Amino acid sequence: MRFDTIIIGGGLAGLVCGIKLQKAGQKCAIISAGQSAMHFSSGAFDLLGRLPDGTEVKEPLKAISSLPAEHPYSIIGAEKVAEYAAQAKGFFADCGVKVTGDASRNSWRITPTGERKPSWLTIGDFTPLAAKEEKIGNKALIVNILGYLDFNTKFLADSFEKQGTECRIVALKLEEMERLRKNPSEMRSTNIARVMDREGIWETAVSQIRTLLKDEDVIVLPAVFGLKDGSVVEKISETLGKKTIFVATMPPSVPGIRTQMTLKAEFEKAGGRFFLGDTVIESKADENGIIKSISTVNFNDIRMEADNFVLATGSFFSKGLIATPEKVCEPVFGIDLTYREGRENWFNTNFWEKQNYISFGAKVDETLNASIAGKKIVNLYAIGSVIGGTNSLYEGCGGGTAIVTALAAADRILEKK
Ligand SMILES: Cc1cc2nc3c(=O)[nH]c(=O)nc-3n(C[C@H](O)[C@H](O)[C@H](O)COP(=O)(O)OP(=O)(O)OC[C@H]3O[C@@H](n4cnc5c(N)ncnc54)[C@H](O)[C@@H]3O)c2cc1C
Repeated sequence: MRFDTIIIGGGLAGLVCGIKLQKAGQKCAIISAGQSAMHFSSGAFDLLGRLPDGTEVKEPLKAISSLPAEHPYSIIGAEKVAEYAAQAKGFFADCGVKVTGDASRNSWRITPTGERKPSWLTIGDFTPLAAKEEKIGNKALIVNILGYLDFNTKFLADSFEKQGTECRIVALKLEEMERLRKNPSEMRSTNIARVMDREGIWETAVSQIRTLLKDEDVIVLPAVFGLKDGSVVEKISETLGKKTIFVATMPPSVPGIRTQMTLKAEFEKAGGRFFLGDTVIESKADENGIIKSISTVNFNDIRMEADNFVLATGSFFSKGLIATPEKVCEPVFGIDLTYREGRENWFNTNFWEKQNYISFGAKVDETLNASIAGKKIVNLYAIGSVIGGTNSLYEGCGGGTAIVTALAAADRILEKK
């Protein structure tokens, strides 16, 4: 099998890159082993929330010049990051993913534990807050579904009450959920969303909420609606006729999975081939180090060839990076990594402290090419959270790094023609 570009990893970075290349006329394949970080997303893509020294960032684009040289944004350059960030909203709109937000100023999202985190692009289900301390309303009705444990109503109430919102917690008892409730492990967001997506069910939920409402001016609901079609979220708000806020639940994330499925469908609609559930295991290069082909578990000895290869395999979480007792490595190509040798330098025994291992990852140059044993591989690009040089969890820049590097690598590949 031969393609113009093969992308390894079908999370946010791989999909954004694949869609851009495929729409520009390339013949692309994405090979992806499994779930991506989007399945765990709390509903927004972050551009930059904090500098490595802990300084809070309000205006991400202005703050990029303060980042260290090894940060992926510094490698791409502040001007280019601004350019790609400006393209992102339109890119998602063209793919059918509704997002709100502005790269010049962070908004705030409410996490499943009620914390508020700086965000860039918020998925349409959620209402971003303009300020960290913004009060969601005077009185909130927090609505759960009976038996659902991944929506922390008490944490949310505590956090809203700190901003002066009086909260009342209720739970909906829906007959259609009874089968799920019999087995607590079935009461997961995606299963609930599948039931809610059936005709008439969300309408029943809405009429129950109406009977439970007293004098509250805002309704808070778990984001468990619209696994396939997000328009139901707007319909619920409209039908309730009151300010309605959807809050991300503990994983899996229904809006995150829907976004992943929408992007995958867009890639396939443009003619791309998506091989789901397959793992790339090794690569072959010529005598100049140019990557010629890869092999996968499912295709066994049928090799997949391409002019360009894009590594979008994520970090440790997605097995894009592997740690053994002795070393950290990238398992497909064995590319050079930025990482601190000596296991004692990898992590801090205080779980809550900044962890060094999160900033380990691929060493890339300004064209996002990776290197092997110090030699630049001109047809191998690394994008997304497999790249090192940033502690995306601490700095709040995971989504932004994935989107910006994906768009940038696609441009580098297209410029070659
Ligand atoms: C739990 C979690 C929650 C997060 N939440 C947010 C959030 O809310 N907002 C935000 O901005 N950022 C968040 N992030 C940061 C996140 O890393 C980025 O936002 C972004 O989604 C990463 O995308 P990616 O495509 O680089 O990697 P991933 O999403 O990790 O995707 C990598 C893909 O590559 C596949 N893969 C790996 N190895 C192989 C192989 N050998 N062969 C084939 N396929 C392979 C994996 O199965 C996976 O599907 C979160 C990260 C984690 C870990």
